[in-house]
Amino acid sequence: MSTATPAPEAISRVRLARRAAQVPPSATAALDAQAKALIAQGVDVINLTSGEPAFPTVEPAGQAALDAIAADFTRYTPAAGIPELRAAVAEFLNRHGTTYEPGQVVITAGAKQALHYAFTTLVEPGDEILIPAPYWVSYPHLAALAGGTLVPVRPAPGAGLKVTADQLRAAVTDRTRVILLNNPANPSGVVYDRTELAALVQVAIDHDLAIISDEICDHWVFGAAEHVSVAALGPEAAQRTLTIGGVSKTFAMTGWRIGWVAAPAPVAQAITAIQSHTASAPSSISQKAAHGALTADLTSELERRRLELDERRRTTIKALADIPGIEVDGNPEGAFFLLADVSGTYGRTLAGRTITSAADFAELLLTEANVAVVPGADFAAPHHVRISYTVPPDRLTEALGRLAAFVDGLGKRTA
Ligand code: PLP
Repeated sequence: MSTATPAPEAISRVRLARRAAQVPPSATAALDAQAKALIAQGVDVINLTSGEPAFPTVEPAGQAALDAIAADFTRYTPAAGIPELRAAVAEFLNRHGTTYEPGQVVITAGAKQALHYAFTTLVEPGDEILIPAPYWVSYPHLAALAGGTLVPVRPAPGAGLKVTADQLRAAVTDRTRVILLNNPANPSGVVYDRTELAALVQVAIDHDLAIISDEICDHWVFGAAEHVSVAALGPEAAQRTLTIGGVSKTFAMTGWRIGWVAAPAPVAQAITAIQSHTASAPSSISQKAAHGALTADLTSELERRRLELDERRRTTIKALADIPGIEVDGNPEGAFFLLADVSGTYGRTLAGRTITSAADFAELLLTEANVAVVPGADFAAPHHVRISYTVPPDRLTEALGRLAAFVDGLGKRTA
């Protein structure tokens, strides 16, 4: 360790507010960064941590952005977003049976910012937000920033990583304010069907709770699964639901930072007011790009991508089924992730180390086999690793081969 005195500008005399001090950096981002750093050093790491499909941004988005720059469309836009994009989003959402008007849509800098606004708008200090576990890493921190507490509702063992309405109902307290649903789910890839979803929504109706429904992966459903939008489950659902989405995953536009929230009009207005004093509005150029993506005929291109991803999903599930000690949990029919239970490798050894947790497993897999996956502790899945299967097929096959060889090479159980 260096004993050199840090430069004066490296020393902070600034006291962080508790709300900032309590927020750790995203664990997924940290692992992604670690894998990318190894790649930059020339190590042939295959990165299965990524939260984005490995496809290029759809072509009409880029062209619309270039046109926007050429036309000097580079000023503040209305706080809720440009009208044509709000209308295009409403139409895009309504393909799932909702009846959103453009005035109910607020355009944000990614779905993440939409979630931040949703929590800020709904949650009072001390409020509880129920969430089926496993859940996406950012939710607890987004809830905490608004002064709320995320309360995980855990699935029963062997229940396919899904919670029931009875489990959700049992977790409701006087402080519960919101039920947060994420379907298709990150990190598990499970997809709740219409009946299951309607039962969860009924809990919100019975207890007069709001619903935040994160449907960012609505395009990525496979096999027999279909995407069901919560706000399409009837007027009682629509009147209490904030639908979160964006272009990031469907159109491979994560860096453009365009998302949205669609909500009952007074909620949309409150969110617009908050955005007007914080971001002003998302990037004008990115809004035009999103509009280009949403209004082009991309049906066959998006379907081709969906089928490609489905192929990678099937390849991954099949390969993992043949690896003793690793088990895919639940039925990953959506998004581009799955959770693999690695507790069957606990007690086994490699390079003088014994695997006692999913974090050990992930670290050894990265350092010894150069495959990066995310350990599940921050997703409330401590015995699982999340595998993102979006990488190109040849890299995926290579990664799955390395994974199999890694497990095969583990020393015998020590306990
Ligand atoms: N919600 C979920 C479940 C996600 O996985 C992600 C991104 O990883 C987001 C929201 C954020 O999406 P965006 O990139 O549009 O902010």
